[in-house]
Amino acid sequence: MPVLPEHFLQSLKDTPGFDLHSFLQAHEVPQQTPSIRINPAKQVDVSHFKSRADSVPWSSHGYYLSGRPSYTFDPLFHAGCYYVQEASSMFLEQALKQTVDLTQSIKVLDLCAAPGGKSTHIQSLISADSILVSNEVIKKRAGILKQNIIKWGGNNVIVTNNYPQHFARLQGFFDVIVVDAPCSGSGLFRKDTEAINEWSPENVQLCCGRQQRILADIIPSLSEGGILIYSTCSYSIEENEEIADWIAKEFDLQSLQIKTERGWDIVETVSEKEHCFGYRFYPDKVKGEGFFLSCFRKIKPEPEKKYKSSKPGLLSIKEKAVIKPWIKNVDVDFINHGNTVFAFPSSQIQLLTQVQSHLYLQYAGTTIGEIIRDKLIPDHAFALSTIIAQNVSSINLNFEQAIEYLQKKDVEIEVKLTGWQLVRYKDFNLGWINALGNRINNYYPKEMRILKQYNTGSFEK
Ligand code: SAM
Repeated sequence: MPVLPEHFLQSLKDTPGFDLHSFLQAHEVPQQTPSIRINPAKQVDVSHFKSRADSVPWSSHGYYLSGRPSYTFDPLFHAGCYYVQEASSMFLEQALKQTVDLTQSIKVLDLCAAPGGKSTHIQSLISADSILVSNEVIKKRAGILKQNIIKWGGNNVIVTNNYPQHFARLQGFFDVIVVDAPCSGSGLFRKDTEAINEWSPENVQLCCGRQQRILADIIPSLSEGGILIYSTCSYSIEENEEIADWIAKEFDLQSLQIKTERGWDIVETVSEKEHCFGYRFYPDKVKGEGFFLSCFRKIKPEPEKKYKSSKPGLLSIKEKAVIKPWIKNVDVDFINHGNTVFAFPSSQIQLLTQVQSHLYLQYAGTTIGEIIRDKLIPDHAFALSTIIAQNVSSINLNFEQAIEYLQKKDVEIEVKLTGWQLVRYKDFNLGWINALGNRINNYYPKEMRILKQYNTGSFEK
């Protein structure tokens, strides 16, 4: 059993809902219940998960698994049919559903977004004419975020790679801002024993300072009446209730209560100074890891502001005709960016150019591909997107072939047609091949390929 720092346990002594004995017991075994969240846009049947147990009670698409399958060797994982996510974090769904009218067209910012758990969740909850700006400050992590967003397959997302202070250029812009803040990480001690050695009171203080700086930078970008959702995976009051107090006092934000059910065993707390509501997840009480969430509404009026925007380079009629047979009849515009064409929801094009004028874009909408000599060279992102037409030429692979394809090996398959074809597993798109008559080229992206070797029996097929 990992030894938890004495200082840490002492610091939690008076924390609401903390029970030393059962907390220590929960940390005796590094066991956590694995959980996944299904992508409603891809409509995978939950019977795919043979070890599926209960639903996560606070999330409409979350499930606990009784065993731990190898996600790496599940083609549907690579097809973006589900995301492996810790159950407590899925409580974000309640915060959103209970404070925001999700049927409306809204602008959401997920400020600390990599690797993309909350962003893919938000995408599944907002309406098709809403926009999510999914931001990650660390460039390498922004790349991973982009890959996960691509797998999820939506087109109303913009991935940015900016510091929180850069958002000052978009004052009063967002209807919802989620700050899943970098923190001391005590909530993940069972999952990541390394984090135990890294914990110190000094680090908690350091995290608090950073959390305040991030919030001070970003709150001006929230619209009047907008919702701020703040969360951490720390148990420390300093990073949770005390930050909530600070938000309410410094920025005059109104704390919001979220209804929870008795059987969920989530601990509702009320902060000492400003009486803000907070929601604590303890692993001895819930089936999930340590987590904290607090929710606020901005009441202060924001001055009307005009944001810079520009005209995007739209495709010509001739170029559109090249793409048309590949795409479902959806309301998107096609934009030329260099040689690459991407699709973005028509109703939000102006918003895209506003964001583009002020931030550093990593990705937006869905990359469709390149048009070369009146032919489309399709992009991987397009294969995984939900806007690709049903009748695009495709071939279903068996399990072994699918794994070889995902390892970017030469796959032995018989194809009747030549040219670009979608590769699928159980009817879910994995990527592209190009059949040239005498050989087949595997276009699975190198940076996403499975590096591990497959041992028979390591995944429940
Ligand atoms: N929301 C993510 C999810 O659900 O998958 C997890 C986010 S993780 C708790 C916190 C993120 O904040 C990390 O990706 C980290 O790179 C980023 N971060 C670190 N320092 C930051 C800073 N000063 N400003 C903004 N983000 C920061």
